[in-house]
Amino acid sequence: MICLGIEGTAHTIGIGIVVKENGKCRVLANVSRMYKPEKGGIHPREAANHHVKQFPYILKESIEKSGVAIEEIDVIAFSIGPGLGPCLRTAATAARSLALLLKKPIVGVNHCIAHLEIGRALTKCSDPVLLYVSGGNTQVIAFMAGRYRVFGETLDIGIGNCLDKFGREAGMPFPAGPIIEKKAKEGKKYIPLPYSVKGMDVAFSGILTAAIHMLKKENIEDICYSLQETCFSMLTEITERAMAHTEKEEVLLGGGVACNKRLQEMVRIMAEERGAKFFCPPNEFLVDNGAMIAWTGLLMYESGMEMMMEETKVRQNFRTDEVEVKWR
Ligand code: AMP
Ligand code: MG
Repeated sequence: MICLGIEGTAHTIGIGIVVKENGKCRVLANVSRMYKPEKGGIHPREAANHHVKQFPYILKESIEKSGVAIEEIDVIAFSIGPGLGPCLRTAATAARSLALLLKKPIVGVNHCIAHLEIGRALTKCSDPVLLYVSGGNTQVIAFMAGRYRVFGETLDIGIGNCLDKFGREAGMPFPAGPIIEKKAKEGKKYIPLPYSVKGMDVAFSGILTAAIHMLKKENIEDICYSLQETCFSMLTEITERAMAHTEKEEVLLGGGVACNKRLQEMVRIMAEERGAKFFCPPNEFLVDNGAMIAWTGLLMYESGMEMMMEETKVRQNFRTDEVEVKWR
């Protein structure tokens, strides 16, 4: 079975084409374009316009790369939520058009679950606790009693958003995460920042404000270093707590911030110290991508979760635990 998946929840429009062979996921194509605001944060309407413009090109490119004819595609999947309304509607419209044109079934995929499923497909883990860290989302997710449950999450902004907002104040272009990572390597002094873990949850806005204040007093490398150390320790702590609670022995990373080597190192050490295994797919599949939507859509379709057109309305606030997981 071959599935074409469209990702379009925020800054990235992506198309992935995957096939299930001998029960395994093979990615035939995974093509993305990212909208980068000239100044300020993501403007949802502008991001959606970017996606509309790029869609025909990435469709052509992904089909060519995949080596399959468009008629051979069995099912169309798209990111139904959570995300920014205009972006979601653009991806959904593209998916509906393709499904109608090709006379193929359609499935709407939960974006957060897709990060977890592509990790399971491409690494050797089977039942992990996922630390999902991206621009808008920060969640600790694991499978329990038929659903993916959220064991901890941010109470305010996503970790990526925290890094990007700090970067903007420090004069860095979007996305700031990779630049902060580079600068942090040069940092020598740890400057205490408000460490904010509340039970299983975290909060970043206080740390962000404190770090921005530091810009006047401290050097940028030390602030970047301290910001990373503080935020990533908090994330590692709640991930470990979820592992202890669920008694799971695997931890998986997902989301763009998981490209950060220091975060990977912290979570790996935590896992090793408790005798658990650490998994992290390649960067291409950590960031938002079409392949994860295609693969999750394929699993859903196979388990009978095809949608009627009327059911494909986007869900901006779609929660991870609303999905009844029939494929596990
Ligand atoms: P996503 O929303 O999952 O596509 O991820 C985008 C977010 O990942 C942005 O907020 C980026 O700043 C962040 N990001 C990307 N690479 C890194 C990195 N190496 N370190 C920290 N954050 C990163
Ligand atoms: Mg994401």
